[in-house]
Amino acid sequence: MTSPRRRTRQVVVGRPPGPSVAVGGDAPVSVQSMTTTKTADVDATLTQIYALAAAGCDIVRCTCNEEAAAEGLAQIVPRSPVPIIADIHFQYRLALAAMEAGVQGLRLNPGNIRKPAHIKAVAQEAKDRGLPIRIGVNAGSLDPDIAEAHGGITPEALVASAQRELAYFAEIGFDDVKISVKASNVALMIDAYRLLADTVDHPLHLGVTEAGPPPAGLVKSTAGIGTLLAEGIGDTIRYSLTADPVEEARAGRTLLEALGLRERKGLDLIACPSCGRAEVDVIKVANDAMAALGDRNIPLQVAVMGCVVNGPGEAREADLGIAAGRGKGHLFVKGQVVRVVPEADMVDALVATAEQIMEDGIDAVIARADVGAAAEAEATRVELLATQGVDANHADEKIEKIRELAGE
Ligand code: SF4
Repeated sequence: MTSPRRRTRQVVVGRPPGPSVAVGGDAPVSVQSMTTTKTADVDATLTQIYALAAAGCDIVRCTCNEEAAAEGLAQIVPRSPVPIIADIHFQYRLALAAMEAGVQGLRLNPGNIRKPAHIKAVAQEAKDRGLPIRIGVNAGSLDPDIAEAHGGITPEALVASAQRELAYFAEIGFDDVKISVKASNVALMIDAYRLLADTVDHPLHLGVTEAGPPPAGLVKSTAGIGTLLAEGIGDTIRYSLTADPVEEARAGRTLLEALGLRERKGLDLIACPSCGRAEVDVIKVANDAMAALGDRNIPLQVAVMGCVVNGPGEAREADLGIAAGRGKGHLFVKGQVVRVVPEADMVDALVATAEQIMEDGIDAVIARADVGAAAEAEATRVELLATQGVDANHADEKIEKIRELAGE
């Protein structure tokens, strides 16, 4: 028997029509993870983000540890199917640069950005842009003066660190905030979150930091996060494993389903958010696909992607998908283009292929790919790149501003 969920205020990460996830209040508990790629490596990071989304991850965090990472974010955010949070340590200017890049939220570590003026500058910018910030207290990087005042790294010290940051934010009237008080010691982490839940009404992000590789990391994370969730504490969670982050997302999703906090997944329809490259109304095609597939009890992941330039690659983890380009739909299975159909037939083709996969399996459908489909998709991709250029999302303008900000 689990306790009723503690009622928190709600923050929203991302704004429609882009990806958007509410955290806190009556929103479902969400799953987070963090990419392990270099954020400056846009293609590798996007591939991992799509794999995380496919595994049930609602929000993805990317490190913004250098100017090149902020520049990468300017290209990643418009193409991500889920909201992106920039993880900031030490350099407040990188928080400003990440916001310029378009991220939907920030995580700040109060232990390593300590100057009040810097903290308030970031919060002011977030407030002006309507972006939430997570105060991410970590036992391993706690302010030494706070640890000293509390006789060491205690639950009270972790909560005091969050409260100090909240007070800086309050000075400029900003409280669009989630909070975490993570520790690698599970008992300390549980006590810190219990105290925090009694102290503030902000949504809480749960995690056992540096939990290590599975199975120990899974056990420790589940012990900490699961205990708190069963007590009704927690609005969003992250497993911090020394493993492929997809395992983190799967574990988080599984825990929430096991506790009855998220529904089991049948069809998992994912869609790119659409960006400057989109060749079709992605929202309409995704809605039509949902209407056509939603009731069929098809346990597949289906991707609707706005362009063939990046769609099949970004959604290569999906069982099948369709990517638009030059009035056609490029149907792909596990990233391999198997058919090209008129744009008007995109949804019908998705349904027919989903049924084929259910009947014959993925390998059989790939083996029956139309001759020339992959080559046609590649030709359209090259043609679109030639006409749209490589910077269809005007990331260069943002990168220019990021360089000004970071170089100040
Ligand atoms: Fe990615 Fe293309 Fe969709 Fe843009 S339109 S988000 S590049 S798939």
